[in-house]
Amino acid sequence: MSTPPPRAYKRIATEEAWATPELIQHYVKILETRSINDPGFYSLWGFFGKSQTPRARDLFERVQDLGERRLSDMDATGIDMQLLLLTAPGVQVFDAATATALAISTNDQLTATIRQHPSRYAGLAAVAPQAPQAAAKELERSVNQLGLKGVVINSHTQGEYLDDEKFWDIFAAAEALDVPVYIHPNTPSPQMIAPFLSRCLDAGIYGFAAETGLHALRLIVSGVFDRFPKLKVVLGHLGEGLPYWLYRIDFMHAGIVRSNRSEGVKPLKKKPSDYLRENFYYTTSGMPWEPSISFVQKLMGHDRVMYAMDYPYQYVAEEVTAMDNLPLSAEQKKMFFQTNAETLFKL
Ligand code: CA
Repeated sequence: MSTPPPRAYKRIATEEAWATPELIQHYVKILETRSINDPGFYSLWGFFGKSQTPRARDLFERVQDLGERRLSDMDATGIDMQLLLLTAPGVQVFDAATATALAISTNDQLTATIRQHPSRYAGLAAVAPQAPQAAAKELERSVNQLGLKGVVINSHTQGEYLDDEKFWDIFAAAEALDVPVYIHPNTPSPQMIAPFLSRCLDAGIYGFAAETGLHALRLIVSGVFDRFPKLKVVLGHLGEGLPYWLYRIDFMHAGIVRSNRSEGVKPLKKKPSDYLRENFYYTTSGMPWEPSISFVQKLMGHDRVMYAMDYPYQYVAEEVTAMDNLPLSAEQKKMFFQTNAETLFKL
């Protein structure tokens, strides 16, 4: 039997979830004590916690495994490397002191695993935006001392968004270190979740995108990218719907600025779509669907769209095959699976 020819590209998956048992124990404590105001957290993690279905048990095991099981899953689907992100909502649901300490210990544990498997894993730092200056310091430590490749923030932090200037030390650090900020979904903030919950629309089906797309748009219209012009932000799920809205966002934003309608909207140096093309990158997590991928590649450029699986939440071997069959040139396919991620995350 002859061996198949080697692939012309590495497959790097760029939004892959993991968790420590310690983090899960802290989640369980919140579920038991009902100590935070976050209906989305109770809805999603309460369901996972109670559910004894094989699927829930399997997810719990897989998300906490960075050893043989994950590596063999990667081998089974042909994933050469995973970029690891602490699962949503990360440490953002805890008080500032707990969250800051957990972020540090989590980043240390992640680094130890990456050092055991440097060709298979890279990772983003977890930080606690609840303590913005400590978060900026932890990002610096994670990049300079641990070799992590950027930072993941799971959208709102207890109802607060990063366009609030009190968080901007984090952006200053990311820009100075030249590493990306991955704005990963969270369930909608307490202020807007009610109509999602009663129809189970709060998570991956739609709520994640509504929440995270809103967050990205808040960053743009608040002027974050005029203040930090070299800041790089990554969105999963092909941009959380925003690429589809580009034309209307630009058109309406110009009108809002002209009308002086709100203190919250100031003139920007560029159109909103310019920032989405120049400061943002897009991964395909959970969206392995040719029409959407081709659309975003056409709008944003082949150098801004890269592969992600969203393991273990969307661990589907057939999706990798579908991505191999995308209508791309050999050069574009290598960018999509490999070199865009290598360039952006400095792998
Ligand atoms: Ca994810």
